[in-house]
Parts: sequence; C-alpha cells; structure tokens
Amino acid sequence: MVPRMARALKTVLLVVVIVLALGLAAAAWFLVPAHLQIRSVHPPLPSPDVVRARVAEATGGPVKLSWINTSSQATPRSGVLGRADPRPALPYRLCHSSFVLEWEDGRTLLVDAGMTREQAKSFGAAGELVGGGPVDVNTTVADELSRHGDHADGVVFTHLHVDHVDGVRELCGGESARRLAVPLTPNQARAHNYTTAGVFATLQSLPCAELRELPDRELAELPGFPGVFVLQAAGHTPDSQVIVAALRRDGQPTPVVFTGDVVNHIDGINLDLGKPAVYSALVVPEDDARLGAVRRLIRSLRDEAGFAVLVSHDQIALEASGVPRYGDDRGS
Ligand SMILES: [Zn+2]
Repeated sequence: MVPRMARALKTVLLVVVIVLALGLAAAAWFLVPAHLQIRSVHPPLPSPDVVRARVAEATGGPVKLSWINTSSQATPRSGVLGRADPRPALPYRLCHSSFVLEWEDGRTLLVDAGMTREQAKSFGAAGELVGGGPVDVNTTVADELSRHGDHADGVVFTHLHVDHVDGVRELCGGESARRLAVPLTPNQARAHNYTTAGVFATLQSLPCAELRELPDRELAELPGFPGVFVLQAAGHTPDSQVIVAALRRDGQPTPVVFTGDVVNHIDGINLDLGKPAVYSALVVPEDDARLGAVRRLIRSLRDEAGFAVLVSHDQIALEASGVPRYGDDRGS
C-alpha cells in the first residue's frame, strides 16, 4: 500500500511539474519576444517646449470636450500603482472612458471608444477575480451618440487594447454606418504584440473604419481634425500614442493631453510612479524606463504649460478635472 501511494504521489508530482513547465514555456513564448520588442520601440519624443509651441500655434482646433464613462469598477490602487505608492489605501475607481472632441462646424472626434456592454461585463469579471468590486456597465459610445442624435467623424486610439477599441464595433453597425476616419501613427499601424494584434485585425475588418497612416513625425497633426496631435509614446504597447489637443473653450486656450495607459492613475504622473511589477512583467509587457520619460513629459506639460491631464482609467481624477460628461448640455 505504502509503495503504491508513493508511486501515485510521484506521478501526481510529475504531472504538476510538466504542467508548470509547459505553462512557463508558453508564457515565455509570448512574453520574451514582447519584452524584447517593447524595449526596442523608442521613437523620438518631442520636448515639452516643442509640444507647447505647436499647440500654441495651432488654429481651427476643437472648441468642446466631454467624456463618456462606458463602465467602471472599484479597484485597489495596488492594481495600478507600483509598490512605492505612499497611499495604497486610498480609493480608486477604474473606468473605461471615451473622450469627445467637437469643432465649431460640428465635426466630432473620439479619443478611444470604451467597450460594448458584453465586453465590459467579461472585462469586469476578470477584474473581480483580482480584487476589483462589481463592475458597473454604464453605456456605450454608440448609444450615447445616437441618444443625442450625434455621430463621430473619426476616432483616434491611445492604443489598440480591447478596452479602448471594442466600442467602435457598434459605430460600424448597419449598412448605413458613416465612414469613420481612424488615423494611426506608423507604430500603431505596424508595431503590434500579442496584446494588440487581434484588436488591430478587428479594426481592419470593420467596414466603416478608414484606417489612415500618419507621417512618421515626433508630433503629427491629425488630417481633418486641426489642433489635435499624436506623439508615439510606446512603453505600454509598441503602438501607444499620447494625444494632445489645442482645445479652446469659451475662446480661451485650454490645452489637453490624453495619457492613454502611460499611467492608469493620476498619481503615476504626480509621483512619477510606474505600475505594479507583476503587471508590467506578466500581463502587459512594458518598458518602464520609456514610460518614465513620457510621464515626465506629461507632467512638465501640466506644471509648466498649463495642460489638463486626462488619464483614461482614473474616474475620480476625471470627475475632478472639470471636463463635463457628454450630453450634459444636450438634454436627453
Ligand atoms: Zn486600458
């Protein structure tokens, strides 16, 4: 009996070791190339002075900005900030935002598109498994725009992750869907990893999306959307872009920078803090040295040039930013 039990135990241990080894090999198969790639994508970053000057010179920029909170979920700060976070117990709410920029002539550009309800539910369920609270699925960009009789003329993505892109599928629903301009920096059009390639393929397959590659510039203005610029941030994903808008509200310049996932909490900018090491190593392979350079560029734009900084996933900071919710001035 005892030798038989020992043999059974040995077999179980062997199976566990094989499963673990296969798991590690599979992870390494994806992770190692992605880590090597993200560390090799370092397009030149413009200096804060260059960004400030281009935005100050821009004419015909957007005159309105609002945001849509497609879904959100209470999440521990330890899920989005590294161990050096001095205030880990403070509340944080991870939201999936879409920003709506509007021009005097009615043109409308979205910065990211959030998720469809179905995708938001499954994304939120995964968040619950790692300490998040129940997910609130609020709305979608398609529902919000149609509720107010509006449409989007274009969408620019901070990066091609499903939580920023999925909602665009509904904007392309139906045969009468409008054409949607989708400007992409060269890296967003070409440099992908296992976290973005599938989303890019989905985007390419959408009948209404007109993908257009921008020239390879350190700060490229979006054709058809004057006063909006993208810089190739990388660091989070090879295709990550930071978007800058020469917004004028009530005739006054109120420049804005959209961080995407350079940080997921405004304290990433305030304290120059990276994300949790496990996240950057195993979930989304990141280059924190590069992200640090982008964080400091954004902080300098805010502190020295008065840009508003809008962090895609930080609901509390977005609510404190003074940017209104989309539809607040439209009636429903
Ligand atoms: Zn994200």
